Amino acid sequence: MTDPAPMLLRLDGVEALYGDAILALRGVSFAIPQGSIVALLGANGAGKSTTLKAISNLLGATRGRVSKGTIAWQGESTAKFSPADLVRRGIVQVLEGRHCFPHLTVEENLLSGGFARRPGRREIRADLERIYDLFPRLRLRRRAKAGLLSGGEQQMVAIGRALMSRPILMLLDEPSMGLAPMIVEEIFEIIHRLNAEDGVTFLLAEQNAHLVLRYAHHGYVLENGHVAASGTAVDLSRRDDVSDFYLGGASTATTPNHPPFPIEFVS
Ligand code: ATP
Repeated sequence: MTDPAPMLLRLDGVEALYGDAILALRGVSFAIPQGSIVALLGANGAGKSTTLKAISNLLGATRGRVSKGTIAWQGESTAKFSPADLVRRGIVQVLEGRHCFPHLTVEENLLSGGFARRPGRREIRADLERIYDLFPRLRLRRRAKAGLLSGGEQQMVAIGRALMSRPILMLLDEPSMGLAPMIVEEIFEIIHRLNAEDGVTFLLAEQNAHLVLRYAHHGYVLENGHVAASGTAVDLSRRDDVSDFYLGGASTATTPNHPPFPIEFVS
């Protein structure tokens, strides 16, 4: 038997407040094993973005904070690390809304993602090549200003820029939002390749549960700031209660695009 994958990230009883009054997370606990794709599901306002920002230590920017519980990255509390330190340690986040620098070219946007690591020229070239190999349309448009690209291409730039930091764990907030179905499939196929070929671990916050459960190994459903359900992607998509609330009705066993993840998750 092979050894189980180590847990990269553990949230234990995490509460998060905005200001001093709005309790957005109420004791969220879960763990993410190395090499997995984990889906964080839930309706508008359930707490998905807050969870992702808490992990990257970004809540301060919106007057939020973790008020209870712990978040541990590779066994160490993240509380003492700045968002930039966490990027250097391997956690990178693509925020909701595909933020690009509109006046910079595609390639300049990508290059801006590598600075934290202070890479050499050869490494930069290799990383750009890998990104252009994954996103051929970015190679074609590498000298175009990012502000002139389609929404889907901007999402690809945002993901590519995050990849330039050579992440261990990528947090993606609503990667499908506002994009045409074909582009969304293309982006999820790339997530699948990055996971299968490069071993990148993913935490994907998505309202589109049908879609994400086809690619994820495991899912957690947030409701009102707490984990209301969890399970393998196939189990979650078969559960009627989850299906009624999050999958728009009749439960459907999804066909995952990969074999099941071989180890236990905790919630
Ligand atoms: P969405 O998909 O709409 O972003 P979500 O599941 O990501 O939903 P969050 O954005 O994490 O949900 O919001 C969780 C709760 O925290 C909601 O009640 C929301 O109104 C509140 N909230 C989020 N950001 C702030 C903020 N900056 N100040 C005050 N309350 C906030």
